[in-house]
Amino acid sequence: MLEIFAAITTPECANVAVPEATEQAIRYYNSGNVLWILEQTWGLIVPLLFLLWGLTGKMSRFAHQWGKKWYFVIVIYLAMFLAISQLLNFPLDFYAGYLRQHDYGLSTQSLGRWFENYGKGLLVAFISVAAFIWVFYLLLKKSPRRWWFYGSLASIGIMFIMMFVQPIWIDPLFNKFGPMQDKKLEEKILNLAAKAGIQDGRVFEVDKSQDTKMLNAYVIGFGSTKRIVLWDTTIKQMSTNEILFVMGHEMGHYILHHVWWGMLYYGALSFVIFYLTYRSANYLMHRYRQRFGFNNLSDIASLPLLLLLISIFVLLTSPLTNYFTRYVEHEADRFGLEITQNNKAAAEAFIVLQQENLAIPRPGPIFKIWCSSHPPLGERIDFCNSYCPWKRKEPLKYSEYFQNE
Ligand SMILES: [Zn+2]
Repeated sequence: MLEIFAAITTPECANVAVPEATEQAIRYYNSGNVLWILEQTWGLIVPLLFLLWGLTGKMSRFAHQWGKKWYFVIVIYLAMFLAISQLLNFPLDFYAGYLRQHDYGLSTQSLGRWFENYGKGLLVAFISVAAFIWVFYLLLKKSPRRWWFYGSLASIGIMFIMMFVQPIWIDPLFNKFGPMQDKKLEEKILNLAAKAGIQDGRVFEVDKSQDTKMLNAYVIGFGSTKRIVLWDTTIKQMSTNEILFVMGHEMGHYILHHVWWGMLYYGALSFVIFYLTYRSANYLMHRYRQRFGFNNLSDIASLPLLLLLISIFVLLTSPLTNYFTRYVEHEADRFGLEITQNNKAAAEAFIVLQQENLAIPRPGPIFKIWCSSHPPLGERIDFCNSYCPWKRKEPLKYSEYFQNE
């Protein structure tokens, strides 16, 4: 009886079975969870070491001796801080980013290329942090009680600048971005883009096959730098119709302004995180000033304390963040289905993703809450099997965005 009832309320749009997770995928998932706990814990231990060893106070005094000018003091401290923390992080980074990926046959990176990218990543991090961190220390100095508020505003501004700059200045340091190689496929994608109201020249192919066997595509930038980027690995592993669904999903992110919504979310969250950091940092500094070796948050020596607290609050709010991104991803799936109206190809695209990315279709609830930025693939395939209002002549949620219909 129950089955008949279910069949009436959810007419089948496609009938694609969710494959069982392979043994290798289960191992990757289990070891990934252990690694995640290790990385989170280590991420808190490293700044704690700077504080408990009194290292940060000493580094700040050294930076004051050599830097003389306020800004140089900050940069010298920052260089020391990044160098020491990177040394402490290196073993875990190397294991997670290189050894483990090769172990599971997911990486195509040579050791040389991995080191090159790692070095470039550090340099980019140093330059971008050095370019902006003084803003926060100026606010800490000028406005000891309101810095959290102005700091949140500043962080939103920085987020905008980075989002604008990343696709044109940063990402090309690591990979080659260009127009699509396969012109026939490009034409089909551009036709779909036209249907979504996206102008030509916004779709890029990136040579990710130099780094990984995994598949992906994403939307980045805004204004004149806004674009859809398709990994070449996706083009190699998926059929044309599967790629078109993936692009339909990305076009959903693009047209529904998910980059903006994301920034709005992170902007709002930054007020909460900065406020909690402000309250707890003052309390902890007054309580442990002897041990930490500084007695003013506007001293650059406070950096590990602020980073530690921010990391804790980011971690605590990650279920909310994941809930938000899962919602956005689900709506992009809906947009992709509505614009391509090919449920079978969409479901099969997720199967290819599951196989190539060694994913688990139905992870446990704790994993979903804390780690899943996207809906689990099993749920996404279920949705592809059950969502097709056009077949029932029902209105589409996003038809207003579709051109020439
Ligand atoms: Zn997405």
